[in-house]
Amino acid sequence: MGEFDLIGKYFTRDVRRAALGIGDDCALLAPSAGMQVAVSSDMLVEGRHFLSTVAADRLGHKALAVNLSDLAACGAQPLGFTLALALPRADEAFLEGFARGLFALAEAQGIELVGGDTTQGPLNICITAMGEVPPGQALLRSGARAGDDLYVSGTVGDARLALEVFRGQLALDAAAFESVRAAMEQPQPRVALGLALRGIATSAIDVSDGLLGDLGHVLRRSGVGAVVDVDAVPRSAVLAAQSLAWQRECTLAGGDDYELIFTAAPASADAVQAAARRAGVAATRIGRIEAGAALRLVDSSGRQVPHTFGSFDHFRS
Ligand code: ADP
Ligand code: MG
Repeated sequence: MGEFDLIGKYFTRDVRRAALGIGDDCALLAPSAGMQVAVSSDMLVEGRHFLSTVAADRLGHKALAVNLSDLAACGAQPLGFTLALALPRADEAFLEGFARGLFALAEAQGIELVGGDTTQGPLNICITAMGEVPPGQALLRSGARAGDDLYVSGTVGDARLALEVFRGQLALDAAAFESVRAAMEQPQPRVALGLALRGIATSAIDVSDGLLGDLGHVLRRSGVGAVVDVDAVPRSAVLAAQSLAWQRECTLAGGDDYELIFTAAPASADAVQAAARRAGVAATRIGRIEAGAALRLVDSSGRQVPHTFGSFDHFRS
């Protein structure tokens, strides 16, 4: 199968939202009048971001999910995305599964594939997602203020727990492994929550490299510090059954969670919970923004916990 047959068979779908989709030199998007366009790219490299054992449909889902997670963190409504794909060969079983997982999530989130590039090479998937947001309403890393409450959506740590099972560091029974593996391979981007938090959250970021590391980006960009209650960080029942050391490592430094961390003024506490209910996901208060630049950790009884947790960095690990 040739390059253009491959694009035609697996990736060309009619577009409804975009003015022009696949087949020309450019796609044409039609953002609503007066909106700003939010743009984000994420690349997935085999061996680096996913294991060769992952099912193709889950990989298609995840490649788009990590990009939608960035739009979610900005409070943007998804519009369209492009797909730049390097494939070792035109493996139709892989392409069929990959496209199925990709389009299932795209349709669920109302985002369209509008273009891309296809080349032979080591498996590499780069998606650029575009969304829209009213001017001045994008959620940014820079807006956290001393006194704000600090929240995280959903639960964190399961993806890292699954990775440790793959690495042979931990063992789980089959049902427990399946649930944490799904968290690793099929993260749910919190697009509805990001939209619901417009005008309520003062800052937001999605957790891709570990909760404390990503929180650190918010603190630096906002020029503030924070205190985090490490026991308040929400975790699944499967993770809560592990040793406290693994629970802390996975929740605080796990990565690949694709939940949102966000801040909001204490007066917005009810609005935060209403937004989370509308979005169908939990929002848990895990700490507070403070003046200064320090990130302090405490346990549920208020005792200091030493911050020895890392976060993912491609050129340091
Ligand atoms: P060009 O050479 O002008 O860059 P190509 O010949 O590479 O265009 O691609 C032909 C059309 O197919 C373009 O509209 C491009 O956006 C689209 N396309 C190529 N690869 C993909 C892909 N993996 N997914 C979606 N669209 C793609
Ligand atoms: Mg091209």
